[in-house]
Amino acid sequence: MPKVTVKVPTPLRAFTGGRSEVSVEGATVGGLVRELTTEHPGLKRHLYTPDGKLRSFVTVYLNDEDVRYLAREATPVKDGDVVSLVPAIAGGSPAAARPNAPRSGRTPTPRERSEPFSSADLRRYSRHLLLPEVGVAGQRKLRRAKVLLVGAGGLGAPAALYLAAAGVGEIGLVDFDSVDLSNLQRQVLYTTADVGRPKLAVAKERLEALNPGVTVVPHEERLTSENALDVLRPYDVVVDGTDNFPTRYLVNDASVLLGKPNVYGSIYQFEGQVSVFDARRGPCYRCLYPEPPPPDLVPSCAEAGVLGVLPGLVGVLQATETVKLILGVGSSLVGRLLLFDALALRFRELTLRKNPHCVLCSPEATQKGLIDYPAFCGIPAGGALSDVDASILIEPEALAEALRSDDPPLLIDVREPEEWAIGHLPRARLIPKG
Ligand SMILES: [Zn+2]
Repeated sequence: MPKVTVKVPTPLRAFTGGRSEVSVEGATVGGLVRELTTEHPGLKRHLYTPDGKLRSFVTVYLNDEDVRYLAREATPVKDGDVVSLVPAIAGGSPAAARPNAPRSGRTPTPRERSEPFSSADLRRYSRHLLLPEVGVAGQRKLRRAKVLLVGAGGLGAPAALYLAAAGVGEIGLVDFDSVDLSNLQRQVLYTTADVGRPKLAVAKERLEALNPGVTVVPHEERLTSENALDVLRPYDVVVDGTDNFPTRYLVNDASVLLGKPNVYGSIYQFEGQVSVFDARRGPCYRCLYPEPPPPDLVPSCAEAGVLGVLPGLVGVLQATETVKLILGVGSSLVGRLLLFDALALRFRELTLRKNPHCVLCSPEATQKGLIDYPAFCGIPAGGALSDVDASILIEPEALAEALRSDDPPLLIDVREPEEWAIGHLPRARLIPKG
């Protein structure tokens, strides 16, 4: 009789002794589901109607195929096949919905964090407290946790919102930008009324309004080799929501030197990556990419564009990993790189190995401090055009005058067609550099 792995969904694990996979013998899909319910009788009523038919809200997959499009219950199975039971789920927990329960009162201030949860907190976190993996003990771990988000932009904004909502006691934010109208397409912490205001001031107001039990600590500065270790040191988990290589390497290197997990996320146009770098038990970012690419090979960040929803998804995945690390539950993305393609709507996963010769995290490491990398994204590390030779620049007035003259220069616009379509000078010729 072929031996098959049956994947048991969360709602049905109460009937398999909590196991997510069980090994069952049978010749057909129907035969092994019946065998499964013989071994675990509690499942029977959930999988079969009283007259013995498979319930319609449970779909059975053989490997990746819905058995309704194969031979249904008569579909033959072979050794090593995987059968998945996929029930319809709708979230929520009826036990927790108590419409007549009292409205929430005041939430404890951060000073009261060692105290028991108030009745307001018990209401606020009720959906967490119902999960055995969180419960009161887990919620306390969250309240005691300190998480640093490097970057309060596309990735940091959704991550910060969910971490604050989840009750992470202290959230540090590193950013020095003001809110720009072009941020609002994806940076959901900010509103139209916030344009022009410093991001961290807005973020602190918004996050503490969402959850007064959370303290937001602003670090309104650029991360450098001088300050990175001091900024990161007080935190338990670091979330990398940066958009540039110099900061990404600083975050990785400081996390390795301080022995802290670094929850990595990055986005490009329609694609995202997520991983957890923790050199104490897995690879670091330098194991993957020992050196940053040369600046002139990196597409300019402003040029690249990004689907507005994408950083939301990646930032929320980073928040998920952060909460799991704090709770100590599940299996984290340490040693795994999750790739997301929004256009194909497909997740892929690659195994990341610790580089035994990593310059930073291996026994033979040679790098003992932090490195400031210079220009990336076409922008020098200082953020200014100070490195550009001034003699090749022309002021708008001078160009306008030259174009009006009897012998106007040929004006070549080397930007990409999408940028040209947004706006361009009259009489210019488009020859994209790309
Ligand atoms: Zn490494």
